[in-house]
Amino acid sequence: MSKTPVMTMKERMAVPRVKMPELDAKVRSRNFEEVNRGLPEELAILEAQRCLNCKNRKCVEGCPVGVSIPEFISALATGDISGAARILKKDTALPAVCGRVCPQETQCEQLCIRGVKSNPVAIGYLERFVADWALENPEQVTEKTEIIPSGKSVAIVGAGPAGLTAAGELARKGHKVTMFEALHDTGGVLRYGIPEFRLPKEIIDKEVTKLAEMGVSIECNVVIGKTLTLNELRQDFNAVFIANGAGLPMMMNIPGENLKGVLSANEFLTRVNLMGAGQTENVATPIIKGNRVAVVGAGNTAMDCVRTARRLGADRAMIIYRRTEAEMPARKEEIHHAKEEGVEFVLLTAPLEVIADENKWATGLKCQKMQLGEPDASGRRKPMPIEGAYEVIPVDVVINALGTRANPLLTQTAPELKLNRWGNVEADGNTGLTSIEGVFAGGDIVRGGATVILAMGDGKRAAASIHEYLSK
Ligand code: FAD
Ligand code: SF4
Repeated sequence: MSKTPVMTMKERMAVPRVKMPELDAKVRSRNFEEVNRGLPEELAILEAQRCLNCKNRKCVEGCPVGVSIPEFISALATGDISGAARILKKDTALPAVCGRVCPQETQCEQLCIRGVKSNPVAIGYLERFVADWALENPEQVTEKTEIIPSGKSVAIVGAGPAGLTAAGELARKGHKVTMFEALHDTGGVLRYGIPEFRLPKEIIDKEVTKLAEMGVSIECNVVIGKTLTLNELRQDFNAVFIANGAGLPMMMNIPGENLKGVLSANEFLTRVNLMGAGQTENVATPIIKGNRVAVVGAGNTAMDCVRTARRLGADRAMIIYRRTEAEMPARKEEIHHAKEEGVEFVLLTAPLEVIADENKWATGLKCQKMQLGEPDASGRRKPMPIEGAYEVIPVDVVINALGTRANPLLTQTAPELKLNRWGNVEADGNTGLTSIEGVFAGGDIVRGGATVILAMGDGKRAAASIHEYLSK
């Protein structure tokens, strides 16, 4: 691998942070192509040279799975991309996914030393660059290691980031892994929730193919709690890892929620992302394409819904949020992209009722205007109604993106599994062990709706504990 000469400190300090090449907003707001195009090699290496390879590795402290950030960036800075890829591979199972969807601005990049006086190193963009290169050049990264069968078997419930990560780790240790997935395809939220324009499905396919090549068997269309029970898995396998996410939508609890044209974010995104609805004429799954779409909420899910609605043709695609932009939980980049694509932000506005025509189709969203009061327990300023201030927003479709919680399908058929008061599985923070011997859990089913990297971290930790348990 050719080595690139490293710049002097003064030269490095003078390089501005790289900008991610993006599809033009007008063009992309009507198609599903990936918005961020990825860095070309010369820009990635230049950006890598901005890194100071600090002794006090603040960026690593900000990463929930402790990726060796200075090490992989230093290798990249010298032009050693395969070396960078091998370092990344040791720490994270899905770097091409994390490089795209991790909230780096509140994690590693927030603590990056370069951010004190100028802009942080674009760690996420560099991770994506190296990971994409590794997917294109697998022969230069894969180290052939002999896997010695342990004779032990593990069942994994759910093929989202937590389950996929655990599966890879356990298969590498020689355990026979079988994944059970309720849907007809793998990836969890990565496939059915996050749209193609943020995370192309091809990336998930490549990661899953790698697992299959390692001998992991994946059984789709199996709902644990219906098709099979947790008890049956315990009898047939030496250990179980529960990673079934938290996919049950929370409701708005307002009149009119059951009207036609009102749907949950999960249903909307699943129809489009998993079933391909609305993207070509040949797809059988229907989708309601409104001209005026109101999305209630302001997290990543809400941004994904509103940007998808815009791509399906909505003239008015609106975010309805009871606080202001400063309090929005979505990633800044998503908010910025949504604005560029023509999404409207209707702020300090809380939905009260969905209004319908005589055929029970939604026609309007009656809202209460709000103002911000004192900070509440979460530290965010509390939204307070402004007396007598109402507005009816004309709509064809209302999408509820208020968040999700644990689905009780599995847990209600396993009464000995200890849950917390929100219905999430109680699991040890270090080992993932639940109240049942040999049964571990991690990801959103334990944490509630969290992030991809936290789910992956849980998968990795639980795999280590399961290996230890099986080795005893
Ligand atoms: P999931 O990804 O939910 O996977 C669980 C899997 O288990 C699913 O495939 C499900 O079908 C399956 N399953 C459920 N019940 C059963 C059962 N009974 N039997 C068998 N299988 C079952 N995080 C970020 O870091 N960045 C983002 O940009 C981001 N955007 C998001 C956008 C959306 C629309 C959503 C909904 C979430 C987003 N998140 C994001 C959050 C992130 O995707 C989740 O925290 C993460 O996917 C959780 O991983 P998991 O493996 O625990 O669960
Ligand atoms: Fe490089 Fe920033 Fe990490 Fe320092 S804190 S090693 S500059 S990425």
